[in-house]
Amino acid sequence: MSSELPSYDNYFIRHSQLPDIGESGQHLLNNSFAVIFGAGALGLPVLQSLLMSGIGRILLIDPDVVDLSNLHRQFVYSAEDVGTFKVDCASTYARSFPHSKVATLAADVTDNLEKVLQRTDIVFECTDSHKCKQAVNDACKKLDIPAVFGGLYQSHGTVHVVGQKGGCYRCIAQSGNAADCADAGVFAPFSMLVGTMQANVGLRHLLNKNDAPASGTQLMIDGASMNIRKLHVPMNKQCQVCGDAQILSLENEKVTDATLRTGVIVLKKYTDSRKDSLTELKEPEDVLLWTPETDVETYIVACATGSRANTAAAILQNKGFENVQTMSLAALNLKL
Ligand SMILES: [Zn+2]
Repeated sequence: MSSELPSYDNYFIRHSQLPDIGESGQHLLNNSFAVIFGAGALGLPVLQSLLMSGIGRILLIDPDVVDLSNLHRQFVYSAEDVGTFKVDCASTYARSFPHSKVATLAADVTDNLEKVLQRTDIVFECTDSHKCKQAVNDACKKLDIPAVFGGLYQSHGTVHVVGQKGGCYRCIAQSGNAADCADAGVFAPFSMLVGTMQANVGLRHLLNKNDAPASGTQLMIDGASMNIRKLHVPMNKQCQVCGDAQILSLENEKVTDATLRTGVIVLKKYTDSRKDSLTELKEPEDVLLWTPETDVETYIVACATGSRANTAAAILQNKGFENVQTMSLAALNLKL
């Protein structure tokens, strides 16, 4: 067998034959540098898609080691890898793709992101860490690097493009925690689907395709019904990055146990002396049934982890509500 590198142009000829990619688009991919945060359920399908698309340089960042509970969906790893750094296994896997150079970091780099992300063309945020998502959001906004955020919560998935226009990650997730597969569970094919969609959106964005979801767009994918909604996320005036930050501290004890576990609450904070009011909803989509009010200072949407609240908040923002904040119940100081 020849050790010669296969011809790049022949390797990707089925790509470059596409009218909206062509040789110029394929060479753009080859000259691009992408950074992936997270080598898990979303990060691995993103990595695979970038490798198979001929991205020239990739940096994969994840401080974790492989756990037995990862194997059912994180297809790169096997039982022999348990206890090994994920990025080391992923790096070995990536050697089969001769036209991509993959570097790795097995470390938490959230305190040093601006240095790490220098000369990056696009970022994929694929972790379930709220801290990491916030840090990536802030650095990418500051450095003007497009970023595609992926999220999973049971049968709900999100793909959010953050860039110059539209709302950023903090605009719809002021506080609270991202959903964690360790607590919520995850369906293997759905995680692969959302990760692959994340890569597809990011690569179309990288290719400057006008029909790609623009920055400020959030796709909301229902893994059960397979309904996909595309929402515009407006900039939030109270976002710490896009607007003037204002942290609210509220107390309320009226929420039932059932809502804490499965539902969403929406708090209307009034500008006048009227008592703030609270509404409990069974599903995030129930906010579609709401009747708008004109003198509400801020809508605060909360749920146990912040994930379903993000869904409800995005729907509200898409309906034209400007002052919407998302919080976890813990952040609202609710007594559990
Ligand atoms: Zn923002």
